[in-house]
Amino acid sequence: MSIRRTKIVATLGPATDDPVMLEKIIKAGVDVVRLNFSHGDAETHKKRAELVRTIAAKYLRHVAILVDLQGPKIRIARFRDKKIFLERGAPFVLDINLPSEAGDETQVGISYPQLASDVEPGDVLMLDDGRVELDVDRVEGGRLFCTVRVGGELSNNKGINLQGGGLSAAALTEKDKADIQTAVQIDADYVAVSFPRTAADIEEARQLLREAGAIDGNIGIVAKIERAEAIEMPVIEEIIKASDVIMVARGDLGVEIGDARLPGVQKDLITRSRALNRVVITATQMMESMIKSPLPTRAEVCDVANAVFDGTDAVMLSAETASGDYPDKAVEAMDRVCLEAEQYPLMVNNEERKEYAPFHRIDEAIAMATMYAANHLNVKAIASLTETGSTTLWMSRTSSNIPIFALTPHRKTCTRVTLFRGVYPFKFFMDTIDHAELNQAVIDDFLRRGLVDSDDDLVILTKGDLSGVRGGTNAMKIVRVGDVRSR
Ligand code: PEP
Repeated sequence: MSIRRTKIVATLGPATDDPVMLEKIIKAGVDVVRLNFSHGDAETHKKRAELVRTIAAKYLRHVAILVDLQGPKIRIARFRDKKIFLERGAPFVLDINLPSEAGDETQVGISYPQLASDVEPGDVLMLDDGRVELDVDRVEGGRLFCTVRVGGELSNNKGINLQGGGLSAAALTEKDKADIQTAVQIDADYVAVSFPRTAADIEEARQLLREAGAIDGNIGIVAKIERAEAIEMPVIEEIIKASDVIMVARGDLGVEIGDARLPGVQKDLITRSRALNRVVITATQMMESMIKSPLPTRAEVCDVANAVFDGTDAVMLSAETASGDYPDKAVEAMDRVCLEAEQYPLMVNNEERKEYAPFHRIDEAIAMATMYAANHLNVKAIASLTETGSTTLWMSRTSSNIPIFALTPHRKTCTRVTLFRGVYPFKFFMDTIDHAELNQAVIDDFLRRGLVDSDDDLVILTKGDLSGVRGGTNAMKIVRVGDVRSR
C-alpha cells in the first residue's frame, strides 16, 4: 500500500464552482481547500465550504478548510482604458490623489496613501509580481516621480511591492478583521495571515479569532512568509513560533527578495519550521503552466518533487485549480509527482533531529520514542489515539516512510491533521479504557481497513492512561497483529 505523505492544498475559485469538478479534485486527492479572500464575497466562500464538506462526507474523507486573508496587498488604481503599455525609460507618476479611474500612460492612482512616506529616491517598485519595474526618482507630496526600469503591459489594480521590502502597512486590515468573523462562522480549520511583519501580527490574529468566538486551538494560524523583512533572524524564528503553519508564499516573496534567492530561502524556511515543530506549505506557481495545459512542464515536476525532498508538509495549487482549464489534471499531476518523489531514498534524513534537544512534555517524548522505534524496526503502521493531534504533529516532524494514523473521536482534529505530512486521520471512538481491549479494537479496525494484513505485522500504538485528556499521551506499545486481533 502506498499512501501519499505530502498533502495537497487546492485553491477554490470559478473553475471549481461546478460541483462535478469539485468532486473530481477531491477524489483526485485534495487534502485542504484554500478559500482565497482576495476574491469573492463571504456568501460565495460559505457556499464553497459547505459543498466541500458535503462531497468530503460522501467519500468518507476529511478535507480541511483554509481561509486565506487578503492582507495589505498594495495596488495601483485603474486606467481609463483598462490597461496601458509602459516603455523602458519613460517617466511615470504614482499619485495618491489621482481619481481612481483616471490612470493613463503617464500616471496612475494608488490605494495606499503611506506609499509616499515609505519610499525614497533610489528605491525600486515592482508592479504586477515584478513584470514591470519602476525606479523612484523623487517624491513630492503625494506624488512619486518614477522612470520605467522594466517596461511592459500594466492593467487595472495590479499589486505593488517594494524591492527589498519595508512597506509599513499593517498586516491585518479592516477587511481582514471582518473576514476573520466569516472564517469563524465557516468553522475554518486554518486562517492564513498575509504579509505578517512580526510575531505580533500573528498574535493579533489569534486574539481576533478568540474575540470572534473561536475556541483556542480550533483554528490554526498560517503565517504567509512574503515580506523581505520577515525572513531575517530573529524575526522569522519568532513568527514561526507564534504560528501553527508557515506558508512559503513564493509569489510576493520572490518579488521582494528576487527570484534567485527563493530556492535557498524555501529550504531554510522548511528546515526551520520542521525543527521548531511547525507545519509548512510550499506555494505558488508549482504547476503554473497547467492553467492552460493538461500536462505540467518538466521544470514544474522537478519543482514539486524538490519541495517534497525539502520536507514540505504540503504543496499548493493556486490559479491552476481556482481559474485554470484543468483543475483535476493539476491535482492528479501533483499526486503522482509527490508519490514518486517520496520513494526516493533521500527522504529518510533526520539530521535535524540528531542534535540533543530536551523534550518539554511527556507526549513529545512518547512521539519521538515512537519514531525512533518505528524507523529502526520493521513496523507497518503507527496508531496514535489522540485528542488534539499534537502527538502526531511531533511524530510527523521526523522523516519516515511509515504511515501515522491519527485515531480521534473529534471531527476538528481529523481535519486539522490532514495537513501534516504522513498523517492520516480517522474517527475512532474509544469507549473502553482497558488497554488490552483498546489494542484489540485498533488492530481489528486496521484489519478491516486493510492497513495491516499479516499476523506478523507490527503496529506501534500511542495512547494516554486516561481517555479524553488533552496532551495525555504517556504510553507507547508495540503489538504484533496476530497477538491481539479478535479470533
Ligand atoms: C504568494 O504570494 O505566493 C501567495 C500565496 O499569496 P497570494 O496568492 O495571496 O498572492
